[in-house]
Amino acid sequence: SSALTPKEHREPSRLWHTFCDMNTVAKGPEFVVARAEGVWLWDQSGDRYLDGTASLWYCNVGHGRAEIADAVHRQMTTLDAYTVYGDFANAPAMELSERLAAHAPVADPRVILTCGGGESIDTAAKLARSYWVTQGQPQRQHLISRTGGYHGLNGFGTSIIGMERFRSGYGKLIEDTSVVRHDSAAALEAEILRVGADRVAAFFAEPVIGAGGVFLPPENYFTDVARICQKYGVLFVVDSVICGFARMGNWFGIERFGVSPDMIVFAKGVSSGYLPLGGVVVNGRVADPFWNEAGNPFLHGTTYAGHPSACAAAMANLDILEREDLFTVSREVETHLDSALRGLADHPLVAEVRSGTGVMGAVELTEEALNERGVTTAEVFAEARTRGVIVRPVPKALLVSPPLVITWEQIDHMTSTLSSALDAVMARH
Ligand code: PLP
Repeated sequence: SSALTPKEHREPSRLWHTFCDMNTVAKGPEFVVARAEGVWLWDQSGDRYLDGTASLWYCNVGHGRAEIADAVHRQMTTLDAYTVYGDFANAPAMELSERLAAHAPVADPRVILTCGGGESIDTAAKLARSYWVTQGQPQRQHLISRTGGYHGLNGFGTSIIGMERFRSGYGKLIEDTSVVRHDSAAALEAEILRVGADRVAAFFAEPVIGAGGVFLPPENYFTDVARICQKYGVLFVVDSVICGFARMGNWFGIERFGVSPDMIVFAKGVSSGYLPLGGVVVNGRVADPFWNEAGNPFLHGTTYAGHPSACAAAMANLDILEREDLFTVSREVETHLDSALRGLADHPLVAEVRSGTGVMGAVELTEEALNERGVTTAEVFAEARTRGVIVRPVPKALLVSPPLVITWEQIDHMTSTLSSALDAVMARH
């Protein structure tokens, strides 16, 4: 029925794809995702693929949940959209904030709503700096983040990202930022002392580093980090954009490590991506100076803040998470995924498998494969996709983060397909 039949025609569309070199994309037909249901996607020719990445880490409840669509329809025909600003509120935004606050491991929480992760990171960064202004310490501006950390690509996110390739080519980024090794709390303390504790505003960390390659924190890392932040008064901001909403078997990921941050940034799984939504849970310490009689308005926000239809999607999504107890399911999936991925560790092209904390994993290729044989993760990705499984290539690894409703059989299908894809690539090099 569609005029576009990308499998046959070689003319690229006018759509500029993000995160890629359009010269490469324009050389072949675009991969048009036409339909999705559960863990499955179909392209326009009707070929089926297992969505091993839940799109970009977000479709926690799986695709095609009619009850989310129904909730959005009901909301859109009641109140489609109205911005939360000034004294305007709406019921879905208020209910969602209550629900998130009830489960967030922060003291006396308040919730700011946005449209995604990167926007929320910028909100948290501005709020951190602004908080110190309210404390009479405007020089506390420095933001510390971690190698491999990904925090979206807005202004602050681009400036604190722990992957160099995303930072260059845009002129001067936001100043007073630095990156420390992700595997060492001592490195954070050393950096705070180098900068001067009285100049550091906040530290940003993902519970498990996602897009940077699935790096799990060492034993006691977050307890040490929380203690160090407290010792120097540095605000501790957790980026739970990937790790939230049952991907780590709990609400915000960081609960796994028993610490209570000052802010939690969320997005993705809050609505399983059915509509764009994100936000920041802010503790009382940070929020109070803006809520008390001191008169400190936080002059920041967006047009779609607290979008009622997006919030209705999130509420229906959270209903599913709770009703199907995807928190418990997630822990079981995590265990099975971990052992299935470990089966790939012996493959000659594979250096390391990282998994076992949350429903996510990385299969990293050896330096020999990458540098001497000239294997690319893009080739492995392409071979897997040809065989009907979507994984995600990053420079050294293939990442997986399937919907939490994946079955054991589907996990095994995903990992055995990845294994065949590795074999096919090895045979070529
Ligand atoms: N933070 C983390 C940990 C992420 O993984 C992402 C996106 O992948 C973001 C922030 C940015 O979110 P968005 O792409 O919605 O701006």
